[in-house]
Amino acid sequence: MSEYQPASRVTRIKASASVAAAAKVRELKAEGREILDLTVGEPDFDTPGHVKQAAIAAIEAGETKYTGVSGTPELQAAILAHVRRRTGVDYTAGSITIAGGAKQVIFTALMASLDAGDEVIIPAPYWVSYPDMVLANDGTPVIVPCGADRGFKLTPDALAAAITPKTRWLILNSPSNPTGVVYSRQELEALAAVLETHPQVLVLTDEIYDEIHFGDGSVVSLVEAAPALRDRILLVNGVSKAYAMTGWRLGYGIGPAALVASINKLQAQISSCPSSISQAAAAAALSGDQTFVRDCVEVYRTRRDLAVAGFNAIPGLSCTPSEGAFYAFIDCSGLIGKNAPDGRVIKSDQDVVLYLLDAASVAVIPGSAYGLDPYFRISFATSSEILQASVDAVRQAVEALR
Ligand code: PLP
Repeated sequence: MSEYQPASRVTRIKASASVAAAAKVRELKAEGREILDLTVGEPDFDTPGHVKQAAIAAIEAGETKYTGVSGTPELQAAILAHVRRRTGVDYTAGSITIAGGAKQVIFTALMASLDAGDEVIIPAPYWVSYPDMVLANDGTPVIVPCGADRGFKLTPDALAAAITPKTRWLILNSPSNPTGVVYSRQELEALAAVLETHPQVLVLTDEIYDEIHFGDGSVVSLVEAAPALRDRILLVNGVSKAYAMTGWRLGYGIGPAALVASINKLQAQISSCPSSISQAAAAAALSGDQTFVRDCVEVYRTRRDLAVAGFNAIPGLSCTPSEGAFYAFIDCSGLIGKNAPDGRVIKSDQDVVLYLLDAASVAVIPGSAYGLDPYFRISFATSSEILQASVDAVRQAVEALR
């Protein structure tokens, strides 16, 4: 039998860094090590009871068949009402695509629009999956460094400099994974002014963390800030993060009808539709009582304050308070060049991460996985006890460096 050779789209991409980190934590735990795990990118809360009940009711009512490719009328109505509430913008059912998570929406949107050599602008630090999704779909990621000096945000000048005739997409993510930064209305308007002069560029705005923010008012969506661009914005969201529904796998995209029709054409061949049960649950989440979301945000806020204060008090580490999502992106440049007790020199954020795992049993993800070095990302979607124990263990390990 001939040996299996993966397709070039597979060899082009890396395995997900967060999936790899989770696998490493599982392996160490299986060996009996107690690990303080700050890698997890999902809420540690259970899905709300009324959402589970809606899923059970759907099963019992026999809603167990294929649905239309863009979802049940109930889910479509819930998405449209939710988007209207969040952004003030009225869309119609023909603007909707749904899939097994926001992740799949993004993948299929790229698949529906990229030809070989098309460029996709990705501000760094970025969610780990964007560049690989672009590569898997024959595109070319154009990474634009957006360091701490720029508040980890894309500036209009940097955007203008990155656009070429081959640019097909800009991907924006606010609130951001991994930094927790949120673009203001003015910042979005300034980016939109640049985009208005480049009509070939579509914008994918990944707003999966929009409900999890710690500022006044709500996160401003690009569709709200840039009405002139609305016919080329794909707004991506889902129920995973706000409603603690990562395992239900339900995300949606909302955007121009022609793009959405292409995405749905592919989606019809990929999976026909996401689970009918998850659709019923997502409809209940989006249209039901929102107290759960508000309560979670308050818990995340307390944990954020604990983690940010704790890590900032450790010499050599610093971070700015996250404005949204449940991550903090910690600058560890102060540890580079130091020696571990066993003589090893810490040369990169990957060395920092390995050292913290060895010496403090704390698992975090290196900033280099998100396109910016030397940082590490922590998730505060975990208990205050685990966060406090992690801060204490990291402080001890850092104090042992020379
Ligand atoms: N976008 C960002 C920025 C994320 O961090 C994640 C999950 O970690 C996703 C999208 C994927 O969300 P979903 O569970 O809806 O696929």
